[in-house]
Amino acid sequence: MEDSPVSKEPSPSTPFTQTGAAVVNDLGSDSEQGLTTTQVRERQQQYGANELAVRLVAPAWKRLLRQFNNLLIYVLLVAAVLAGVLTEWLDMAVILAVVVANAAIGFVQEGRAEHALSAIQNMLTVHAIVIRDGKKQQVLAKELVPGDLIVLEAGDKVPADVRLLHARNLHTQEAALTGESVPVAKNVHAVSADAVLAERSCMAYSGTLVTQGRASAVVVAIGGDTELGRINKLLNRVTTLTTPLLEQMSQFARYLTLVVLAIGLAVFALGLMRGNDPAYLFMAVVSLIVAAIPEGLPTILTVALAIGVTRMAARHSVIRRLPAVETLGAVSTICSDKTGTLTRNEMMVSEVYTQQGRWQVTGSGYSLEGKLLALDQRAEQAEAADKLQPLTGLALAGALCNDAHMGELQGKDGSKGDGPEITGDPMEAALLVLAHKTMQNLSRLQEDFPRLDSIPFDSRHKYMATLHAVAEQVDVSQWFATQTTLTQSAQVIFIKGAPERVLAMCTLSPTEKEQQQKQIERIAAAGQRVLGFAVKWVDGDVRELSDDMLADNIEFLGFCGLIDPPRPEAQAAIAICKEAGVHVKMITGDHAATAKAIGQDLGLEHTSRVLEGHDIETMSDDDLRAQVLDVDIFARTTPEHKLRLVTALQAHGQVVAMTGDGVNDAPALKRADVGIAMGKGGTEAAREASEMVLIDDNFATIVDAVKEGRNVYDNLKKAMGFLLPVNGGESLAIVLALLFALTLPILPLQILWVNMVSSIALALALAFEPAERDIMRRPPRQKQEALISRFLLWRIVLVSVLFTIGIFAAFQWALANGYSESYARTFAVNTLVAMEVWYLFSVRYLRRGSLFKEGVKGTKAVLIAVSLVFVLQLAFTYSPVLQRLFQTESLLLVHGLATVLIGIAVFLILELEKALRQRMSVYQKLKITN
Ligand code: ADP
Ligand code: MG
Repeated sequence: MEDSPVSKEPSPSTPFTQTGAAVVNDLGSDSEQGLTTTQVRERQQQYGANELAVRLVAPAWKRLLRQFNNLLIYVLLVAAVLAGVLTEWLDMAVILAVVVANAAIGFVQEGRAEHALSAIQNMLTVHAIVIRDGKKQQVLAKELVPGDLIVLEAGDKVPADVRLLHARNLHTQEAALTGESVPVAKNVHAVSADAVLAERSCMAYSGTLVTQGRASAVVVAIGGDTELGRINKLLNRVTTLTTPLLEQMSQFARYLTLVVLAIGLAVFALGLMRGNDPAYLFMAVVSLIVAAIPEGLPTILTVALAIGVTRMAARHSVIRRLPAVETLGAVSTICSDKTGTLTRNEMMVSEVYTQQGRWQVTGSGYSLEGKLLALDQRAEQAEAADKLQPLTGLALAGALCNDAHMGELQGKDGSKGDGPEITGDPMEAALLVLAHKTMQNLSRLQEDFPRLDSIPFDSRHKYMATLHAVAEQVDVSQWFATQTTLTQSAQVIFIKGAPERVLAMCTLSPTEKEQQQKQIERIAAAGQRVLGFAVKWVDGDVRELSDDMLADNIEFLGFCGLIDPPRPEAQAAIAICKEAGVHVKMITGDHAATAKAIGQDLGLEHTSRVLEGHDIETMSDDDLRAQVLDVDIFARTTPEHKLRLVTALQAHGQVVAMTGDGVNDAPALKRADVGIAMGKGGTEAAREASEMVLIDDNFATIVDAVKEGRNVYDNLKKAMGFLLPVNGGESLAIVLALLFALTLPILPLQILWVNMVSSIALALALAFEPAERDIMRRPPRQKQEALISRFLLWRIVLVSVLFTIGIFAAFQWALANGYSESYARTFAVNTLVAMEVWYLFSVRYLRRGSLFKEGVKGTKAVLIAVSLVFVLQLAFTYSPVLQRLFQTESLLLVHGLATVLIGIAVFLILELEKALRQRMSVYQKLKITN
């Protein structure tokens, strides 16, 4: 196209030295219409996507190397070298093979986990508002091209480098580029060519956040050509697979390894002094070291975590920071927004109140079907006299002081009731529907009253105002009866907002105000959201709105009440929270009476008292702390109050999850233990401050995530509870053999086999365990719960002892009955693995018996693991190759069966112990409960 003289370099090199208009011109764009669709398509081909190459997954070679960067692997490698020195070639080969096998398992499993996590991060797309072909539309930020006109609002992340064209009170936080976290003010004035990045106040840069105000701007650079792209060609946002628990775990493993290593060396030295055969000692020490260290644990924990995150994503909660998975399981208070999270946010105006009377509005949802029915005498009289101006004036204000858009009517097949497609805030959408029900022919409204300026809604000041010109031909008397002195250059301001706010601006007598206040209370008490409307006529040529224009001569129009029914699933989720010992607090900007009615409907615990924003303001932190536990409803709040609430709750030791959507919610979201940003309506700023994003904005989803968080933690505990005792049993058997100078019941290579093949396969199944039945019927976990709890310690001792007895019993029995040492060892190893398999079934349920249908049946993962281990053990025992490698012999069938019976015996003993644990008070006294 000849009208797009775009050079190879997409951006004018110094757009901040030129006027906005010149930049737009240079880029072949149009400051009103934006680019055309054809231009956009061409430029997308030419410049590619507005993306930075983001690396979410570590490269494969790094992941592979990581598998070998592990103390145990070093120990094994040293052992392999020593075996070589001792010319034990077979041992060396097997040790090396096991090292490789272990690395392969870790490599594959962690790779899958990382890929799963990065796929989830891709669910979070960023949008931008652009003007193309003269129409405002929402597109994916990656589809922007140089020359695009975009609109920026508070809370947005700037999607590309842009030259500002209009800016209203715009402030951006440029920490991503300059490291400076204090927001800087922006304007449209060109600066000199030597201005450094931080001084280019007419530019906004990709990756920075809009903290305040609004602007329109033209895109000058995208993707890798942006400043952000230049300083960091490749954003290394590699998903780190770690959490506090994992960190603790690997520290514990390192510590354990060192201790075991020291013991091993001591044993070796002692044996040498006693004159033992060095070769025997060496093997024994390697056995001990391998036996004592839970080598598979880190991999299994990582997999359990990744599975948890994937399950959460499938249920619409996207984890942005991995540690949140663990914290979620400990959440004891959830603070939730009301509108849209606890309620459906499918609003409908159900009542209109003006000084001319009350009307009920019929219909459902966004369907345009519906009428206004007079509810009182005055309304009837007004209808009879055809003097409906206050009503139509209110509807007009609602339609114009409005950012929602109504698209084509849906249901072209004539189906009724679907309603048109509406984009924007649901409450504003409802006002468009009201306008349709109130007056005919809305198509000309935008031309009759072109908007000149606006003050957007903000949860702090709680109103929105728009300034409109009035086209010459318009007869305003059809809407407004009172307005008589309209001059030619008249303009009009419409205001809508929280009714007390709007009333306070209006010129009404105190008695009138009091009377209106009663009406507000009445509508709110029915659980409806109340919205007030007002109008102001301005003479003269005003182009911009300012706060002082809202100080006088404001005419009150009336209110409307909007229904926004609670989500039924939120009701159910709150009931679940009650059982799970999780407190739910509702925090809303709505009226106290509305909040109370909805809170009662939802079944919140404490609904008799509501704390309002201005109450919180007058309270000291101590006062707030004293009351915060006994109040569940907070109304007419601003985002600043959220921060104080989180802090007060945390002072009680509560682990707090907090939802939020706006830029002002960011501090509270950051402060909360789990900040939760809204996926539908939330701003980028809120997301950046959050640990988790709620894709469907639904409260029930938070509760699901808490449940999954508890499950992940349970599974981590189960994996530890499985592996540590198995390792304990093996080491104990070897230590005993060494202490009493007995023959080793299991050879080092055999231990390697059990630990790195059978145990890992079995333990991995635990990462897939579904939630236990009672998972949401117990109180939240204590935040400071120790990694190795008393319960786990007790388990390790008990199971280790049982395993040791099993191993020795099998080994000694076989020897006593005249079988060879190799045969006896084969028997012992198979007994050990059989005990592991049965122990797996026991450990799947931490606090209830495993002898019920699902417990016995197991999950798919459990069945696969058990079958796999069965086949592997058959090979280990009967295949000639493995027999030679591991010095095993074919077992008689009866002995094979005997191993299973020993396993069952161990299982039954543990089941009995589980039953005793629930009944005997010694356990309570020793705090061995879980
Ligand atoms: P919530 O926490 O329930 O979302 P908000 O802070 O969004 O509450 O809104 C508080 C009050 O502000 C509402 O009860 C309503 O009266 C008014 N309000 C909400 N949205 C708008 C808007 N877009 N324009 C004007 N007023 C609004
Ligand atoms: Mg809101």
